[in-house]
Amino acid sequence: MPEAETINATDVVLRVENLKKFFPVRKGVFSRVRSFLHAVDDLSFEIRRGEVLALVGESGCGKTTTGKTLVRLHEPTDGKIEFLGRDVTHLRLAADKKWFHSKSQMIFQDPFESLNPRKTIFDIVSEPMNIQSEGSLKYREEKTMEILKRVGISPPDAFLWRYPHELSGGQRQRVAIARALVMNPEFVVADEPTSMLDVSIRTQVMKLMMNLISEMNMSFLYITHDLAVARYMSNYISVMYLGKMVEYGETEEIIQNPLHPYTKALISAVPVPDPEFKRKSIQIKGGIGKAIDPLPRCRFYDRCPYAMDVCANEEPQLTDVGNGHKVACFLYTKKEE
Ligand code: SF4
Repeated sequence: MPEAETINATDVVLRVENLKKFFPVRKGVFSRVRSFLHAVDDLSFEIRRGEVLALVGESGCGKTTTGKTLVRLHEPTDGKIEFLGRDVTHLRLAADKKWFHSKSQMIFQDPFESLNPRKTIFDIVSEPMNIQSEGSLKYREEKTMEILKRVGISPPDAFLWRYPHELSGGQRQRVAIARALVMNPEFVVADEPTSMLDVSIRTQVMKLMMNLISEMNMSFLYITHDLAVARYMSNYISVMYLGKMVEYGETEEIIQNPLHPYTKALISAVPVPDPEFKRKSIQIKGGIGKAIDPLPRCRFYDRCPYAMDVCANEEPQLTDVGNGHKVACFLYTKKEE
């Protein structure tokens, strides 16, 4: 986790209110819309300058859709996204889109797929500057070399005219990071950026991102299924389950004092490098389903070892239970009659 003194977290960079992203589910010979997948369902949160919010959950819980909706690779179904004080929920004017995309970027999971194999490293990294028509060719070359050096591609001029297939997995992800950061963005979504890398270089890339976040004072949404990574990278953790935020709070508070049964199960599954250490294991049944036209009840109901009658009939709301620690679970917000 970043040192508190390195973070100047005073102003809100991103404010999200009741964000929803639904996808139509088509069926039958006429491919009619029969139902909707509630991939992101009523999320509200803020990220301040220099802060890293880790979005944690199993595959299929809506993490990536949330990230893509925030950087406007998906159009939101409902809700509001405010970025640097401006409403960017629906960007219609070309000038507004250009402004937004110069200040927000995304780093994808797979460095083998996210880099165009027909383009040189210079073309790839300088592409955002080309799109924004920024500077002369010489300026773009210098800026590309500068950011390559910052991400540890050295000497940068030896890599400028190479192609992605000539680089290792770790070098490719560094190039992907360089492309995302070359315009000095204010906000970056990083979608499992180290999960495809060898374990030996994962830590190096994570350290690199931590240093860059601190040096450039950026705000990050860090998507991961790995709570150990979330603990290392973030100031705040938000746990998602089937499109809903089920728990939110400061990173150490969530790790040391998890409340939601799903968060407890995720934490109990993280291996501890101490054979003497005994931790209570929380077993959850089955696998994650799909939130297609979900019933108005707790989305975790089918898998929860503590489910009560009320959980089958009402949807728990995310509620602050003290010091900004929020949880959506009737165990904390409602007593059974
Ligand atoms: Fe389990 Fe009920 Fe809490 Fe949902 S609301 S997590 S079903 S106890």
